[in-house]
Amino acid sequence: MREPLSVETIVVTAGRPPAGPDQPLNPPIVPASSFHAGGAYEYAREAAPTTDALEAALGALEHGTAVAFASGMAAANAAMDLVPAGGVIVAPSSAYTGVAVRLRELAALGRIDLRIVDADDTPAVIEACAGAALLWLESPTNPLLEVADLPACISGAHDAGARVLVDNTFATPILQNPLDLGADLVLHSVTKALSGHSDLMMGALVAAEAELAEQVRTRRVLLGAAPSAFDCYLALRGIRTLAIRIERAQDNARVLVERLAAHPAIDRVRYPGFGTITAIEVAGGPDVADGTCSRVEVWAHATSLGGVDSLLERRRRWPLESAVVPEGLIRLSVGIENVEDLWHDLDAALRGAAGSA
Ligand SMILES: *Cc1c(COP(=O)(O)O)cnc(C)c1O
Repeated sequence: MREPLSVETIVVTAGRPPAGPDQPLNPPIVPASSFHAGGAYEYAREAAPTTDALEAALGALEHGTAVAFASGMAAANAAMDLVPAGGVIVAPSSAYTGVAVRLRELAALGRIDLRIVDADDTPAVIEACAGAALLWLESPTNPLLEVADLPACISGAHDAGARVLVDNTFATPILQNPLDLGADLVLHSVTKALSGHSDLMMGALVAAEAELAEQVRTRRVLLGAAPSAFDCYLALRGIRTLAIRIERAQDNARVLVERLAAHPAIDRVRYPGFGTITAIEVAGGPDVADGTCSRVEVWAHATSLGGVDSLLERRRRWPLESAVVPEGLIRLSVGIENVEDLWHDLDAALRGAAGSA
């Protein structure tokens, strides 16, 4: 066997049961809450066979030890829970809304101290890490698609004694491996690209060190945030096609970004140069943006991202969305459909909305 295996091979083979006559190729769904005593399993909130198979795959993909959670937010809360009382968390000004709101809540409760920084201002990020317990990074950010200088921020945070978590949901392990860049923890909303079919909720934390992974696992047990066996099975099935899905969706995104940049109805296209997520700022403002979202037929007007299906939404329609996000910004999650069908549909919706404004 060639070592190390490439990521295109890992997504297909990781988490497989051992080979042998009559062994299934795929891990079976074991829907048990409890197991006969004396073996590796006791109670499913702690560990279970289908969850183990998924965690093996997630760990192999992010080069660490993975713990799966019932949602990305459950994983995020477990990571926040590792910070001692009164500890400082440094977080980006445009982070995933749920994370940003939860961090502000914890700060208001006096549970943590929160320092907000612009993720693409590296010196400011490093300066804010003095005396901090945790640097929380997301790169690219949602939905502004800012890119952080991960190696510089991570080493600056470590010099200051802070642990570093990177939310890698947007880039996926196909395009970026934060643990290889020195991060201590990687967060995923498995709900998104990893599972890839918009049909389940799940999250994961992947730790560089086994000891930190054990602390994370204890958080899952005590917070009660274990995923179901069926969802673990579905997520692993989704991961089998992660590499070709990302490749195709990224190709589609690049074609669309180039054409959208020249579109008369658009002021600005945000795209970091890689990945499947892009954002457009519509020249006519929020009404034209809403009109565009209501006119599409191949794209779906829906939240979330990373699935086989192309989705779009105006982010400021959410009351809790950060005020730094422009009112007319539409986030596009590009899927794996035919790119000409996607272009034709979006172009017609943009022109229709701009023409009737
Ligand atoms: C969706 C998302 C989350 C939260 O995950 P859920 O599975 O929805 O709980 C966290 N971070 C990012 C970047 C996300 O897109």
